[in-house]
Amino acid sequence: MDLTSPRVIRDVQNKFGFTFKKGLGQNFLTSRDILTKIVDALENENEVLEIGPGFGTLTAALAERMDKVVSIELDDRLLPVLEYTLGGFDNVKVVHGDVLKLDLRSLIKEEFGERNVSVAANLPYYITTPVITKLLEERLPLNNIVVMVQKEVAQRITASPASKDYGAITLLCRYFCEPSIVTTVPASLFVPPPKVDSAVLKLRLLPKSAVSVTDEKLLFRVIKAAFSQRRKTLLNCMSSAFPVPKEEMSRLLTETGIEPSRRGETLSLDEFARLSENLVSVL
Ligand code: SAM
Repeated sequence: MDLTSPRVIRDVQNKFGFTFKKGLGQNFLTSRDILTKIVDALENENEVLEIGPGFGTLTAALAERMDKVVSIELDDRLLPVLEYTLGGFDNVKVVHGDVLKLDLRSLIKEEFGERNVSVAANLPYYITTPVITKLLEERLPLNNIVVMVQKEVAQRITASPASKDYGAITLLCRYFCEPSIVTTVPASLFVPPPKVDSAVLKLRLLPKSAVSVTDEKLLFRVIKAAFSQRRKTLLNCMSSAFPVPKEEMSRLLTETGIEPSRRGETLSLDEFARLSENLVSVL
């Protein structure tokens, strides 16, 4: 069954009386070429956790090449559909649940033992940042994350300092991984077509974080604070976020080699790490 064919998608819809739910980001991919690029980007992985299988288009492409695919789907209307479309595979397991609420560490351990896995997903746009944040901040045993995201999000995650796209999510991803854009994907390659274009983003997890800090949570708090009000100076953002008198914060920034009047978006990950290290001593 070629699930990338709009005619087959329509047939499956009719068979199950299925209607797309916009609120669940249900835009299904119809390009075999893009599916191949996603599977290729996973390199030589044999086991994969998928998020949001929909009708099982990407799931089937993964199952053809991998030993095991575990796929998390929130919409219970899709469970009988997936039984039908993926019935021919004995290496696929569908888990019903919300990726944002599931205990992914336990799920990975249960399904894959102590081995690292990779993640593949065509994510609903409204949960892209929370899902990526969850996958990274929980320090799950992952090798690669290959996700379809809104093109702008992929640009943000791969942005350089001082560019308008640079933000907290850029730094979070840089801290844990090496990000790259695999390919861009026009909206016309989905059924129904979304309003925006997409891109396949690859996050290759680093063996250890890009910078070393005493308190990782503090580093993320500093980063979030620095981008909380983009038009304000770093000194103002930091003074509103941390209980340190303004003069002391100003001195601390200067001692870190960071001009207090700079904006958060001009700082590199290294500078954020140095700042968070110096802040530990005054908090
Ligand atoms: N993988 C299919 C494809 O590429 O054609 C469908 C992708 S569609 C953009 C997103 C899928 O994620 C839908 O099947 C939707 O029901 C599911 N989904 C939405 N929110 C979810 C959540 N919180 N947890 C798990 N799945 C979710």
